[in-house]
Amino acid sequence: MAKIQAIRGMNDILPEQTPVWQFVEATVRNLLRQYGYQEIRMPIVEQTDLFKRSIGEVTDIVEKEMYTFDDRNGDSLTLRPEGTAGCVRAAEEHGLLFNQTRRLWYTGPMFRHERPQKGRYRQFHQIGVECFGMTGPDIDAELLVLTARLWKALGLADHTRLEINTIGTSEARRAFRGALVDYLGQYRNELDADSQRRLETNPLRILDSKDAGTRRILAQAPSLDDYLDEESRVHFERVKALLDAAGVSYSVNPALVRGLDYYGKTVFEWITDSLGAQGTVCAGGRYDGLVEQLGGRPTPAVGFAMGLERLILLLETLELVPGHVNSNADVYVVAMGDDAVAQALSLAENLRSALPTRAVVSHCGGGSFKSQMKKADRSGARYAVILGDNELHNGTVALKPLRDNEDQRELPQGDIAAWLANALTD
Ligand code: ATP
Ligand code: MG
Repeated sequence: MAKIQAIRGMNDILPEQTPVWQFVEATVRNLLRQYGYQEIRMPIVEQTDLFKRSIGEVTDIVEKEMYTFDDRNGDSLTLRPEGTAGCVRAAEEHGLLFNQTRRLWYTGPMFRHERPQKGRYRQFHQIGVECFGMTGPDIDAELLVLTARLWKALGLADHTRLEINTIGTSEARRAFRGALVDYLGQYRNELDADSQRRLETNPLRILDSKDAGTRRILAQAPSLDDYLDEESRVHFERVKALLDAAGVSYSVNPALVRGLDYYGKTVFEWITDSLGAQGTVCAGGRYDGLVEQLGGRPTPAVGFAMGLERLILLLETLELVPGHVNSNADVYVVAMGDDAVAQALSLAENLRSALPTRAVVSHCGGGSFKSQMKKADRSGARYAVILGDNELHNGTVALKPLRDNEDQRELPQGDIAAWLANALTD
C-alpha cells in the first residue's frame, strides 16, 4: 500500500531543525518581554466572515488562498491565513481594548493555499505583534526599533533593510485610486493579466506589480503622495524623525502598499536580498479602522508579522546559526555493568541539579564500551563521564574530553559537578 505523505506545502520540522526554531523563538520571546508585550493565544480556526470582513474580499488571500470548509453544523470556517483578525476578534470579545492600551504578541501556524516554493509554504509560522489604543507615531517607531534590535540579536542586522511608506486615510486612498484607475485605464491592454484584473478589484495592488511592462507604465502614474491627507503626512514625518533619532535606517518606498485592506497611514517591510523573491521577512503597519470595522469602538492599532521559515532560512543560508544552538548534549554519561548503571542514574541526576542549564544525556540500552563511546561522540557532548568497575570500586569517575585533545582524567565522584561547571563555559 502506498504510504501516506504530508500535504504539499506543509512541512514537518524535524529534530535536527527544531534547535534553530527554538533559538529564534526564544530570542523573540525575550525581546518582546523586554518591551512589555504580553502573549495572547487564539484558535487556529475562525469563522470565515472574520477574514472576509478584515482582510478584504478582493485581496489575494481571501480570493484564492484561504482554506475554507463547512463544519458538521454547516458553518463556514477558515484556517487562519494570518493572526491580526483573530487577535482583534479575541481582544474585542474579552474587553481587552476598552479604555486601555495593549501591547500583544502571538505565534503559531498560518495557512494559505499558495504555490509552494522556497520561502513560501501552505502552512507557515508567524510571530505577530499588535498594539492597540495608541494613536501617535511613537508606537510605530517603537515597533521598528524593536525589530531592528531583533535583527541585531539574531546577527541579521547587516542582512535586512527597512522600507517604509504611508498610504494615508481611506478617503485619501479613494481619491488616489480614482486617479490611478483613470490613468491606468488608458493602458489597459498593455498591463499584465493580474494588473488588468486588479484594475477592477484592487487597483492599489498594481503598484507593487513585478511585471516590467506594467512597471514602465507606472513610472508616469499619479502618485499617492499628491493625494495624501495632512494628518497622515504629519504622522509619517514624525515616524521618520523618530527613526532618525533612534538611528534606525530606512528607505521610503512610495510603491509599498501591502496586500491587506485594513492598513492605513504607516506601512513597512523588512526585506533581505539573500533569499531571492521571497525576501520580505517582516511586514506590517497601522490599521486604525479595523477594530471598528469588526464591530468594536474606534481603536487605533499598529502591528506586524514576521515569517519564521524565512528568518530561519536566512540564518541557515548565511550560516549564522550560533554553534551552541545545535548541540543536543553537553555531557554524556557512559556506564558499564548493572551496578554502574544504577549508580550512573543518580550521578546524572546530581549533575542535572548542579548544572541546570546543561544537557546531561545518559546512555541507555547497554552495549559495549566502544559503542557507548561512539554514541557519546555523536551526541555532540563536550565530555563523557564514564563509570565502570574500577571507578565504582574507587568512588571515582573517568572524565574524557570529546572535543579537544586533552587527556582523560579520573576524579572523585563528589568533585565532578564542580569540575564540569568550571569547564563548561559559554
Ligand atoms: P508576500 O508578499 O511574500 O506574499 P505577504 O504580504 O502575503 O507576503 P504578510 O501577510 O504580510 O505577507 O505576512 C507577513 C510575513 O509572513 C511575510 O513577510 C512573510 O515573511 C511571511 N509569509 C507570508 N506568507 C507566507 C508563506 N506562504 N510562506 C512562508 N512565509 C510567509
Ligand atoms: Mg502573500
